[in-house]
Amino acid sequence: MNEWTRCVVTPEISHEGYASLGVPVYRASTIPFADAGTYAKRLQRGDEGYSYGLYGTPTTRTLEQKITQLHGGCRTLLAPSGQAAIALAMLQLLQHGDGVLIPDTVYPPVRDFADTDLARLGIHARYYAPTDVDALAAMIDDRTRMIWIESPGSTTMEVQDMSAIADLAHQRGALVGCDNTWASPLYFKPLRHGADFVVEALTKFFGGHSDVLMGALTIKDNAIATRIRAGLGRMGVGVSPDDCSLVLRGMETMALRMDHGARVAGRLIQRLQGHRLVSRILYAALPGSPGHDLWKRDFDGASGVFSVVFTEAAAPHVGPALGVLKTFAIGASWGGTRSLVAPMPVRAVRSVRDWTEPDLVLRLSVGLEDEDDLADDIDRLIDFLEAQCPIASGGLH
Ligand SMILES: *Cc1c(COP(=O)(O)O)cnc(C)c1O
Repeated sequence: MNEWTRCVVTPEISHEGYASLGVPVYRASTIPFADAGTYAKRLQRGDEGYSYGLYGTPTTRTLEQKITQLHGGCRTLLAPSGQAAIALAMLQLLQHGDGVLIPDTVYPPVRDFADTDLARLGIHARYYAPTDVDALAAMIDDRTRMIWIESPGSTTMEVQDMSAIADLAHQRGALVGCDNTWASPLYFKPLRHGADFVVEALTKFFGGHSDVLMGALTIKDNAIATRIRAGLGRMGVGVSPDDCSLVLRGMETMALRMDHGARVAGRLIQRLQGHRLVSRILYAALPGSPGHDLWKRDFDGASGVFSVVFTEAAAPHVGPALGVLKTFAIGASWGGTRSLVAPMPVRAVRSVRDWTEPDLVLRLSVGLEDEDDLADDIDRLIDFLEAQCPIASGGLH
């Protein structure tokens, strides 16, 4: 063999005796075949066969299977982000003339997608109050093909009655999809409570290190899975095996990270709750938070992501107060090793129920830093706000 050729052709080496506890990164666009006959029949081997990198490698399939097993579903499909997983599922399962009902508390980019792209395709999105099942029942009509659930809701954390909503949807022949990013399958399994498919942003707890974007779509029924998979192929959507290996690594510590986050969140909440400048803590695991009873009924745990509503007096000072934080970083997303705060406006992304409280809700995500450092940060924040809002000038009216 000429040396130029030798440089190109991969030699066969023995794998005998080799094993690894992690998952190797299998990259490929081309999958070579032994002969022309096998090549010609490559697409007849169903979803499990390897035919082209876009349709999966052992690395992507391993990640898919791990997630499928956690949910007890039939198949998981991967998308380049959580948002992509949601948008692609809706695009593949809805058509011109269909209606979809979406909670008012949905992840805001999904509202934008529905109002822009679904609307352009003649798919009609309407919004419902996440915790009002009767009002939702009254909205279902013959065009309703899908009810979307996100529980707890983005930023304001309302827990939804999944099984009641799924019953309503199924009586009328509509599908139920659920964004389960906050709980992950460790703490809630939507497919066991009536959902037909579930989405998680793997960007958050699964990846867990704020350095990879990915989404998963786990489906209960094989016919729907095959339909969406074929659609993803036609649209040319796939994910990188290198990114999958990051998510696979993150997933190994997910249970510990989430457990820790909830415990430390509880400690930070104790410092905030009842303070004169704090109006409400929004956290499903906290008695009094919207949907706490449903959370107790359906969930097996809570993540370390919660929101704080400050009083009218304190709210204008919360943005500047974030400047005193030493350990929390300021930024979007959550579920990483670094604790994050994000000041979130809510009013502009609600269309069913007006948001009547201060229009800055502080969302916190607890990471893996020392918990005393995090608690000190919360104390610094509170001290700053107290200095801006002395009791005489408006704390106590
Ligand atoms: C972050 C997030 C998404 C989107 O995930 P990306 O991977 O960032 O696109 C969807 N839903 C919820 C609830 C999220 O928090």
